[in-house]
Amino acid sequence: MPRLAVLGQPVSHSRSPAMHTAALEEMGLADEWSYEAIEVSPDAFEERVRAMAGEGFIGANVTVPHKLAARELADSVSRAVAEIGAANTLSFTGSKITADNTDTIGITASLPGPVEGRRALVLGAGGSARAAVWALVRAGAEVSIWNRTEARARILANDLGAQAVSLPDHSSLLPVADFDLLLNATSVGLDAANPDSMTPGDGLGAAPDRGLTDLKALRLDADGLSVKHIVVDLVYGATETPLVALARARGASVLDGIEVLVHQGAASLRLWTGMEVPMETMRRAARRTP
Ligand code: NAP
Repeated sequence: MPRLAVLGQPVSHSRSPAMHTAALEEMGLADEWSYEAIEVSPDAFEERVRAMAGEGFIGANVTVPHKLAARELADSVSRAVAEIGAANTLSFTGSKITADNTDTIGITASLPGPVEGRRALVLGAGGSARAAVWALVRAGAEVSIWNRTEARARILANDLGAQAVSLPDHSSLLPVADFDLLLNATSVGLDAANPDSMTPGDGLGAAPDRGLTDLKALRLDADGLSVKHIVVDLVYGATETPLVALARARGASVLDGIEVLVHQGAASLRLWTGMEVPMETMRRAARRTP
């Protein structure tokens, strides 16, 4: 009975179990294979992962906050993992643990067309921004990075062959019109898209106000957004993120975080099963549409 899982903290909100279970059913594997969510703290992560092979697990997705730790404990890593420094997919063969990063595939496979020679602006410098920059640079895009903490953007740009964008002061905005593709890899938008999980009385206001706060936090010149742009928001939730809503209103081509989630999940499942996977079934399950 091969077992699969997603490891994270928190993980109860994850759409991966529903998405993978629907795929396993469609593939005729659901009687034997299973996919579950496992909540695990950073302290317990390594011990939990090392026990998994003995419990019948053959693979696991890894999400926030364990992607760096997943890379650290693996016996062998893909080139993407080595260069990015983070993994989202583990495979167990005997006592050996192999690490891959399918977030990169999720990002490039979601794009509507080739990005070679196109100008991309990545917002953020955390684990998913590293995967996004790596994937876009390899696809031939000219990548710029803005991050709230500028020093992290500079390190990332230097590591992966991109350039950091600095803004002269706190009121300056990013010159959106100079880019073809915008990709949000910050966690900004998560609360506005998940109003039920917002902390009451945190002083940041209700969802619509939070949306405006979020757009300010991303320092985007909203007036520069237009039909010529492709906008990718890795963040997703119960409702649209403020960036996705703005980009749609401006006529841009929009890819939301669920589309990226579906593509990265499909790449992981292909790796574990060696089979083609039913994308549309995964998409419907992830979007919770019948
Ligand atoms: P992470 O490593 O914790 O990085 C968070 C990033 O967000 C950092 O660059 C941080 O900037 C920035 N940030 C946080 N709060 C901010 C604020 N108020 N204003 C401006 N910037 C802020 O997280 P991650 O793993 O990269 O994930 C980022 C998001 O992508 C998460 O919401 C995650 O769920 C989502 N994601 C989705 C998928 C998918 O399949 N759809 C895949 C991967 C990740 P500083 O450096 O200044 O702190």
